[in-house]
Amino acid sequence: MKYPVLEDAELRGRKVFLRTDLNVPIEDGRIADDTRIRAIIPTITYLLDHGASLIIASHLGRPGGTIHPELSLAPVADRLAELLGKKVSFAPDCIGARVNTLAASLEPGGILLLENLRFHPEEKEDDIDFARKLASNSDIYVNDAFGTIHRSHASLTGVPRVLRGGYIGLLVQKELKVFVEMLSSPARPFSLLIGGAKVSDKIPVIENLLPRLDNLMIGGAMAFTFMKEMGLNIGTSLLERDRLGAARKLFNDAEEQGVDIHLPADIVIAPSAGRPDLAQTVRADAIPDNMAGLDIGPRTVEEFGKIIRKSSTVVWNGPMGVFEIPPFDDGTRGIAMILSEVTGNGTVTVVGGGDSVRAVVEAGLEDKITFVSTGGGASLKLLQGAVLPALVLLGGGKQ
Ligand code: AMP
Repeated sequence: MKYPVLEDAELRGRKVFLRTDLNVPIEDGRIADDTRIRAIIPTITYLLDHGASLIIASHLGRPGGTIHPELSLAPVADRLAELLGKKVSFAPDCIGARVNTLAASLEPGGILLLENLRFHPEEKEDDIDFARKLASNSDIYVNDAFGTIHRSHASLTGVPRVLRGGYIGLLVQKELKVFVEMLSSPARPFSLLIGGAKVSDKIPVIENLLPRLDNLMIGGAMAFTFMKEMGLNIGTSLLERDRLGAARKLFNDAEEQGVDIHLPADIVIAPSAGRPDLAQTVRADAIPDNMAGLDIGPRTVEEFGKIIRKSSTVVWNGPMGVFEIPPFDDGTRGIAMILSEVTGNGTVTVVGGGDSVRAVVEAGLEDKITFVSTGGGASLKLLQGAVLPALVLLGGGKQ
């Protein structure tokens, strides 16, 4: 599905309600990481260059519908002004008389940042009256909040209802190009590498991509549910027992559709994640009863690597082990290295999902991957092929 883009919008002299994701970490009143603010600059510049004035909205943290001064967006307004080299006015609330006055006095090219949307419980409740108030000073809606685009909150689904549609910003456009356009006709062979812990989250991803897939590699805690279903002993490794049936169905579907499934050949085990000093590597069919599998072993990294090297497109979601605790991060790091290496040789590599993104960033390999998604939950939903109401509503104001 194609969504309206900024190029389609008549912006000159209009006031734009720009929903962003400026949910940055703030420590002692200071912004610890401004990546999300920087990410939105191209969209802001585009809108200003085309003659719009901006009313920018975002959430920050989880204030739970009440005012938490430490979760104010005020420091973000200052940082935004610094990065743009322009004045950014800050409204002490996101709705109400003060906001209306500030918005009314906004000159063409002016910027007003609203206070944290989640200081009001109505934001998360997708309250339509609240959405009307949010929208009341704007002519056009633009959504560039990729990190929260899978949510149905007033600023994401209510405002486009009120303003009868809207546009995606440049950041969302870039993400959708990968997750919707590219993954609907990927260069083959196409391989999916899936890990992490939540089988229930990941099975819909696999099912969605299966018709276009050539190889499926499964690592992380996920793998143990599949290994158990194959009749292997998995010791005390994580198991989603109620997903064994889903794992069996997936084996059958993959076989029917000619997709090769690859499970770990060796596993790094320990009595628990808290005993990295007792880590050892065993064959996947030799996990003792009292041990848990906590990472893929070096032989698995090598075997998955062979498949990755033969692929033209690789999508990765979910870490290969408990990557937060060394040495259980070796598998995840090894895979990240291989992905960066094949990207240099022309393979399209996509990393989506919070923890695998974190692993790539921590390994300093972010710039060596074709596309690293900025939104964990949103990219997971898109990989699952889910229809996101916040996007659908941009097409034209239907309730
Ligand atoms: P998810 O959100 O489903 O991608 O899961 C990410 C989490 O899976 C991370 O916190 C990892 O520590 C965890 N994880 C990955 N592999 C294992 C494993 N073998 N055993 C336990 N937890 C794991």
